[in-house]
Amino acid sequence: MIYAEILLEIHTKELDRLFTYKVPEALAGRIRPGSRVRVSFRGRPETGYVLKLSDQTEFGGRILPVSGVVDEDVILSSELMDLAEWLADYGFVSRAQAYSTVFPTLGNTRFDREKASLTLSEVGRQALETMRRCPSRKALEALAENGRTDWQDLARELELGRGILDRLVKERLVQLHPPLPGVFPVDLGSLTQAQQKVFRRIQGSLEAGTPERFLLFGVTGSGKTEIYIEAIKDCLSRGRQAMVLLPEIALTEEMIDRYQRVFGDRVVAWHSRISPGRKKDIWQRLQSGEASVLLGARSAVFAGMQDLGLVIVDEEQESSFRQSTAPAYDGREVALLRGRANQAVVIFGSATPSTETWQRTQTGEMERLTLNDRFGGSNLPQIQVVDMREELRQGNHTLFSRELTRLIDRCLHDGRQVLLFLNRRGYSGAFVCRACGHTVQCGQCDIPMTYHRVEDRLKCHYCGEHKPAVRTCPACGSDKIRSFGTGTQKVEEALRDVFPKARIARIDADVSMARGHRKGLIDDLKSGRTDILIGTQMIAKGIDFPDVGLVAVLAADLGLNIPDFRSREKTCQQLIQVAGRAGRGKVPGSCLIQTYQPENLAIVYGREDRYQSFLQRELEDRKAMGYPPFRQVMRILVQAPEEEKAARAARLLEKALEEEKSDFLGPVPAAYVKIKGMYRWHLIVRGPRLEELKEMVHRAIRGYAENESIPGVLLSVECNPGSML
Ligand code: ADP
Ligand code: ZN
Ligand code: ZN
Repeated sequence: MIYAEILLEIHTKELDRLFTYKVPEALAGRIRPGSRVRVSFRGRPETGYVLKLSDQTEFGGRILPVSGVVDEDVILSSELMDLAEWLADYGFVSRAQAYSTVFPTLGNTRFDREKASLTLSEVGRQALETMRRCPSRKALEALAENGRTDWQDLARELELGRGILDRLVKERLVQLHPPLPGVFPVDLGSLTQAQQKVFRRIQGSLEAGTPERFLLFGVTGSGKTEIYIEAIKDCLSRGRQAMVLLPEIALTEEMIDRYQRVFGDRVVAWHSRISPGRKKDIWQRLQSGEASVLLGARSAVFAGMQDLGLVIVDEEQESSFRQSTAPAYDGREVALLRGRANQAVVIFGSATPSTETWQRTQTGEMERLTLNDRFGGSNLPQIQVVDMREELRQGNHTLFSRELTRLIDRCLHDGRQVLLFLNRRGYSGAFVCRACGHTVQCGQCDIPMTYHRVEDRLKCHYCGEHKPAVRTCPACGSDKIRSFGTGTQKVEEALRDVFPKARIARIDADVSMARGHRKGLIDDLKSGRTDILIGTQMIAKGIDFPDVGLVAVLAADLGLNIPDFRSREKTCQQLIQVAGRAGRGKVPGSCLIQTYQPENLAIVYGREDRYQSFLQRELEDRKAMGYPPFRQVMRILVQAPEEEKAARAARLLEKALEEEKSDFLGPVPAAYVKIKGMYRWHLIVRGPRLEELKEMVHRAIRGYAENESIPGVLLSVECNPGSML
């Protein structure tokens, strides 16, 4: 008798253990470790994952049989099972939840015949001897002569009507096979000298089959994607597969097209908009090796592949590679793990890499490859920084500097478009002096303190430090210090007052919920039906506007004042991205940045050619203040429908952490204290090594859960979170 050790899909901690079932005769050979099966548990039908098979069991009770296999074609490889175990530990979720994250929800596949290739069957060969002249006969003759042929090629060449090949398949005159593997020769000659040098280094690594890791640091338009494509060709020529991860927002039709033009049917795209049925088709094609290039957003990093040889993470600095809901994980970490497990080369690419990745190139964990020049040599737009303190001194109290008003006027006159960019949607908590730009920071944490109107106090959302709100600026003595924030809507109203005749549109998270609507707004801009588009950072990405005369950031400070240790890095990256939107057309546009803190590092170095210097300075500060990548940070977020409960649970965790003698901040209410009806408190744990931190937090949470867990309280833990709001 064969026994299966099964992890049930029920997502509770208490059931995070294995149950033994027996494999009935009828299912023998159809169940393997990694299979998803149906069983009966406490009288109810449940599903679970087979983790182990063995021919004996220590379990003495009555053993029920497995009732069925959910999907025989989809099995987790041992690599993905290891990954699920890793995810349970890293993401602080039950093993069952980790397995179901890695094991995708797949629907029924619709076999896409037109992607298949065909050969003549034995029946077909016999039929051919007696068949009269007709289109079917032509098809069979062609197959007899040419051997295996792609469905589409055959249909096109012989100009066959729709149903003919279908009928031949049904009558078993021809046989279906996966499409012919394409051959994609590397085209070195298409690359520039600089690109070739980078490519050769990657090729050497692919050839050696060592799991090397690269950062491809190349300015926007330097040809990073061209290099990815040649590297993928090289990888495929070795019979292996490639995975390209992109931020969801960059996974556009244009991007998919670009890869499909080269790799045709061998490319599959995986993102949140594809149906479960299609996902299953993709999964099977990747596992069988029929598809060889996977283009996908974050969750695609778990895809089962037959032989993964290359993993690319483009725009690696993007926060969308992190999943912050349970199980919280960083797609980049998973990409590195998969590289190691598969002996695959990993490439992170970016014009503005993250501080953490940059540090990895300093320590030798990753090798840096650099492309300094834009292909075709077009220039960076002129960037002008406007000091809003000076505007105030000159008596201008509006949101728009005089220079901005002048430039908008000129664009409207020339019939060119304007993009107005607000760094983030209305974070209004920061306390800023409009006369000198001073913001009140927490002395201990080096993050901006947040103003709380009701108590009229300033609070630090990392350590809990608080003090009465100041009336005059501690730096310059001005009384123009107050809480500061502007939403896109307010900008729109103010702009209509100044430019009543301009056609103004606004795109932000609310408006753009409907994809179609967002596209409509962008089309209006492209076709010249809109003069000025106001938006949040989402307009800065992925979209090319050919005739933009001016890109302006209204208040670069908004991003800087967010109480998050990454806010300076994000602001700097966003400024560079925004500037990249100008000057795409023939006549270069200009870029203007309004700020109350022109001396802030993010603004001083917020240009593509200065980004490297920014990283150096930022790393020094991170080191001094004890933030990643020098110290590891974990956030424990406690949520409850009543604030009192969230606070009480957070204090219990505090006690548990104190017993562990760990170094932590809080508990304090998070900056966004209430989201979707849940009150949020957090604790921030720090330490030199993530492994130790994780163990400590696991123990603290277990201690908390065993003693006095409070019903209705939700705990989630994130390692080095992308945001601490
Ligand atoms: P990145 O990914 O670094 O932003 P891309 O690969 O998209 O850069 O290149 C920017 C533009 O330059 C694209 O239109 C691309 O086709 C073109 N390009 C880059 N390198 C070459 C090359 N060697 N030959 C022809 N066109 C190139
Ligand atoms: Zn001041
Ligand atoms: Zn603090």
